[in-house]
Amino acid sequence: MAKKKYYLLSLGCSKNSVDSESMKRLLDASGYTEVKSPERADVLLANTCGFIGLARDESIRSLRELAEGKQRNQQLIAAGCLSQLWGPRLAQEVPGLDGVIGTRRWMDIVDFIDTVRGRSRPEPLYHLPPDAATVGEDERGAQRTAVQGASAYLKIADGCRRPCAFCTIPTIKGTQKSRQPELILNEVRELTANGLRELVLIAQDLTDYGSDIGIKDGLATLLDDICQAAPGIDWVRLMYTYPGAVTDRLIETMVQRPQICHYLDIPLQHGHPATLRRMRRPANIDWVHRTVAKMRAAMPDLCVRTTFIVGFPGETEGEFETLLDFVGEMQFDRVGAFTYSFEGQTPSGAMPGQVPEEVKQERLDRLMLKQQSISLARNQRQVGRTLQTLVEGYDKGFSFGRSYRDAPEVDGLVIAEGRLPVGQMVPVRIDGALEYDLTGAVAAGQPLITL
Ligand code: SF4
Repeated sequence: MAKKKYYLLSLGCSKNSVDSESMKRLLDASGYTEVKSPERADVLLANTCGFIGLARDESIRSLRELAEGKQRNQQLIAAGCLSQLWGPRLAQEVPGLDGVIGTRRWMDIVDFIDTVRGRSRPEPLYHLPPDAATVGEDERGAQRTAVQGASAYLKIADGCRRPCAFCTIPTIKGTQKSRQPELILNEVRELTANGLRELVLIAQDLTDYGSDIGIKDGLATLLDDICQAAPGIDWVRLMYTYPGAVTDRLIETMVQRPQICHYLDIPLQHGHPATLRRMRRPANIDWVHRTVAKMRAAMPDLCVRTTFIVGFPGETEGEFETLLDFVGEMQFDRVGAFTYSFEGQTPSGAMPGQVPEEVKQERLDRLMLKQQSISLARNQRQVGRTLQTLVEGYDKGFSFGRSYRDAPEVDGLVIAEGRLPVGQMVPVRIDGALEYDLTGAVAAGQPLITL
């Protein structure tokens, strides 16, 4: 059968981006060719997101658009988390769908597409093996990375064993599945050989790495190995750590290994113990105070990012005000916040005290307003410092990039006048602070490329 062209639409989080890149690698390796416009493709592939209602709506909307534009000789395949969560229901929602493959078996994409294209009957086909208890281990040699310029996401594990009451991930992905360290280190060596400057480690719960493959303090151990294997890499960044699982060993490793960014992403979700208990999340607020204080003492330039959900079922005005006080006390550098999304298939969906949408929104606005002044104050502390900046672009006379304090896609930027070399690290002396961004100029003695 002649190999054909495919178009891939990647939706959702950085973990889904990695799955999309891995599927592309398998398709390219088996002779398929990627095209950037759906009209020119023989196979239309959408890697969907099923995390919350809004994300599911976007996935369905995108699939329907592809289905409406689909030509007679084209096949439309839905992959990813919504496929895993809904299976046949997705085909009911999207007439014209030819195949549905679950996120747990992304590595079967080539065989599945060939089967769909070769089928004799018009009904859609499904690849959702019931015995796939979690994301498959056999990666068929496909790198588990998503490269963006001089930076790359590297997935070290998939799935999750935590009981968070609002989350669909364990239902979609299954329990925690760590990748073998050697596989990860091979990818790190390859990426750094290609001139990569930043490695962003991702998983659903980074701090649980190794727990299912018998490695104690697996993340700290892996970080030591990564820094050993890639002495040339500038930044190793940690995303999605779990409260209560940031160990002293991990903190030591962050202090001792200069490549590891003094940056910690630790979604806390709330600041009131009663709300956290209903969320089935770690509710030891003292642990948070102590651990962040310990980390800031060990790394005075530490940048802490966290995430909160407002309007969780049963959240009272008092609980919300405790969250506001907590945010005031902790002075986080970066805060992402969301209104609770009703998820019928999670324990929280059945909980009493569902909060009205307008109350959720009003609380979200108050929280972000509170954090705005804190973010500004935290940024103002950077004025006068010289920050290594990974240059990522240029626009209207200004270059922009990120410092160790900025994760890709979610945090702020460093903005400097002039055209700086994209993909390179440039020392920028910070002379101004905004709520989320910093401004500065190339530190003295640094050659500047003229326009
Ligand atoms: S730790 Fe994260 S991915 Fe795991 S269940 Fe909780 S919210 Fe979901």
